Amino acid sequence: MNFLPLIENKREGAPLTTAQIREFIREFTNGKIPDYQMAAMLMAVYFRGLSTAETTALTLAMRDSGDVLKFPKDPRPLVDKHSTGGIGDKVSLPLTPLLACLGFRVPMISGRGLGITGGTLDKLDSIPGFQTHLPAEKIISQVQQVGCVICGQTDTMVPADKKIYALRDASGTVPSVPLIVSSILAKKLAENLNALILDVKFGCAAFMQTKTAARKLAHAMVALGNQCGTNTRAILTDMNTPLGRAAGNWLEVKESIECLEGKGPADLLELVLTSAAHLLVQTKKSQSLAGAHKLAAGCLNSGAPRKKWDEMIEAQGANRKAFNDKLQLDSTAGAVLEIKSGKSGFVAKCDARRIGEVIRDLGGGRLRQNSVINHDVGMDKIAKPGQRVEKSDVLCRIHGADLAQAKSAGTKLKSAFKISAKRTAPAPLVREIISR
Ligand code: URA
Repeated sequence: MNFLPLIENKREGAPLTTAQIREFIREFTNGKIPDYQMAAMLMAVYFRGLSTAETTALTLAMRDSGDVLKFPKDPRPLVDKHSTGGIGDKVSLPLTPLLACLGFRVPMISGRGLGITGGTLDKLDSIPGFQTHLPAEKIISQVQQVGCVICGQTDTMVPADKKIYALRDASGTVPSVPLIVSSILAKKLAENLNALILDVKFGCAAFMQTKTAARKLAHAMVALGNQCGTNTRAILTDMNTPLGRAAGNWLEVKESIECLEGKGPADLLELVLTSAAHLLVQTKKSQSLAGAHKLAAGCLNSGAPRKKWDEMIEAQGANRKAFNDKLQLDSTAGAVLEIKSGKSGFVAKCDARRIGEVIRDLGGGRLRQNSVINHDVGMDKIAKPGQRVEKSDVLCRIHGADLAQAKSAGTKLKSAFKISAKRTAPAPLVREIISR
């Protein structure tokens, strides 16, 4: 195809037709359009935007660039959750077995972290033996038998997004609403879901820094998801402070297990139960959000999701004994350093961005897509806004590769916490629900 006129049209702000979009996505996936031309198109889209019709066409063309998961007929609805990413965001881990125990099938296809935000697959890689790279047949059979799976995209799912995302990353075109919407939804639609809940985060450590920007992204994804036949809702949640009290790959797995055992932090529990409750209502398994919340809490407290977790990780090759032994360790990192408060008062700030940057620099995150990460580093026992602390109380513990690294992280962390004489109520976590 002659792609140049299409780039020029978009550059001048003219719309692209559905047929044109489908053709260039197919040609690009098949290696017939060079990266430099696609990068130019992405930049034109970044500046000119895409209409709703163009975004729909792009999303569906990307979904259809590879295989779509085909599940057998079954009364259990297929559901999933997607988060736009944050610090300490481990919701997918306890949520997945909870949803399976609530009678859903959950093909949770997840990604890796980039920059300061963590990725579910990186967290799971810290589990001895756990496999995240699975073929479609295994994903389908495990979902049918166990009720849930958490894994990466297969080699043949949405290949267009894999290529385009890498180009966006290298061409400064990641923060474009239509490109984000199509990238996220193409992957979710390829799972053939009945319902999807989106956790769109805003704040200093989120992709979208303001609530207004997060709302715009959420509305676009909800409208398109619903239009494509997947009941889609979004919650807007605060990401100015880390979720839970632990951040860093293995430390987050540990905290997820605490949540499944009824010992997890309140904010993590709130987000897990809220996500489950919405999916219960979206699939008409519950009539009201309050009733759904109660149902989800009862299920979590029964202990069944904790057992389901073990079943899921064993089905994906994990060594359950090695995993449970690892859970008993206070730390798996080379050194642990306590950061103490210099005065008494109330935590007024616990800056998620700073904490994310420090963890990334400890080796817990990636600066580039091929960076090797250290699963053991991170922070735990993080003091949260509103909490009373006395002088010398622990504000957090840093798990570093060695003591020198932990000390250097401690210096960088100084500005992350603010202690005030007066208590200010912590900001609510879930701010808005968007269902159309
Ligand atoms: N996550 C994705 O999968 N795609 C984006 O464009 C942004 C976040």
